Amino acid sequence: MVKRIGVLTSGGDAPGMNAAIRAVTRVATNIGLEVYGIYDGYRGMVDGKIKQLTRESVSDILDRGGTILGSARLPEFKDIEVRKKAIEQLDKFGIEAVVVIGGDGSYRGALALTDMGVNCIGLPGTIDNDIASTDETIGFSTALNTVVDAMDKLRDTSSSHHRCSVVEVMGNRCGDLALFSGLSSGAEIVITSETGFDESEVLDRLREFDVVKKKNHALVIISEKITDVEIFARKVSQFTGFSGRATILGHVQRGGSPTPGDRVLASRMGEKAVDLLMQGVGGQCVGIQRGEIVGVPIEEALNMPSKSRKDLQNLFDRLV
Ligand code: ADP
Repeated sequence: MVKRIGVLTSGGDAPGMNAAIRAVTRVATNIGLEVYGIYDGYRGMVDGKIKQLTRESVSDILDRGGTILGSARLPEFKDIEVRKKAIEQLDKFGIEAVVVIGGDGSYRGALALTDMGVNCIGLPGTIDNDIASTDETIGFSTALNTVVDAMDKLRDTSSSHHRCSVVEVMGNRCGDLALFSGLSSGAEIVITSETGFDESEVLDRLREFDVVKKKNHALVIISEKITDVEIFARKVSQFTGFSGRATILGHVQRGGSPTPGDRVLASRMGEKAVDLLMQGVGGQCVGIQRGEIVGVPIEEALNMPSKSRKDLQNLFDRLV
């Protein structure tokens, strides 16, 4: 039976990671396990930046964004020799199993460690909602709130100046933040990798909003990594009746106090991770599917096709 577990946060940070750390620590210590915090992701594992966590060390963090453990990227972790060094450190601290909170890259690291004999469980901590094995990731709800808040404000000022706001949101090739915020803020156009981007068609549609539908403003939401929104906004000014203005929301989307939804999700997932480790399970990631918290083999999760949003996209089109 496992006696001592580690917990780390890795990759891009997300609001709710602290709630997950707290849940893992509290659930585990309450059943007599010892919990060690591994700082700065896999980098801290290799460097031995590891410290015991008690129930007190996770007090007052439930409402805090970011991660008290810090996060980092360590591309060298793909190298088995680097992972061997990490396992030496885990052995030194007597850590037998690890909860890894992060995105799909972090899951790959967790799987590689499991294959080397250290059971790891992944928790989906990312604002992008880009993990197919879970209906929702920890941090998505908070980031969505931040984006919608910004959209509402941009709409106020856009309508005063006959402007078209072209807003770039995060998502790392997953269109969920764009589409869900578009639905929530009543945007005119949403562009994701799923919808594709045909510049002249979008300009045509904007002209229609201006000339035919007589709109005094327009909101265009574009997922990151699709086009340069500054250049596109200039084309909007040039080729439509709107004055185009670009806004790149950037890292504000990563911050903020987690929503109650994220806090509860992180707590439920943290509990499941400890339960799985107690059952001797490794190489799985935790997800929520149709309201139920489940464990899915990481290998399977990484090979799942991304979620299709055709139905939501259709709804969006019917609402414009
Ligand atoms: P995210 O977890 O948010 O997707 P990254 O893709 O940057 O972020 O991955 C986080 C870290 O996970 C990487 O810096 C690296 O340390 C580790 N990692 C990613 N891919 C692998 C892999 N194939 N094998 C081992 N470790 C990996």
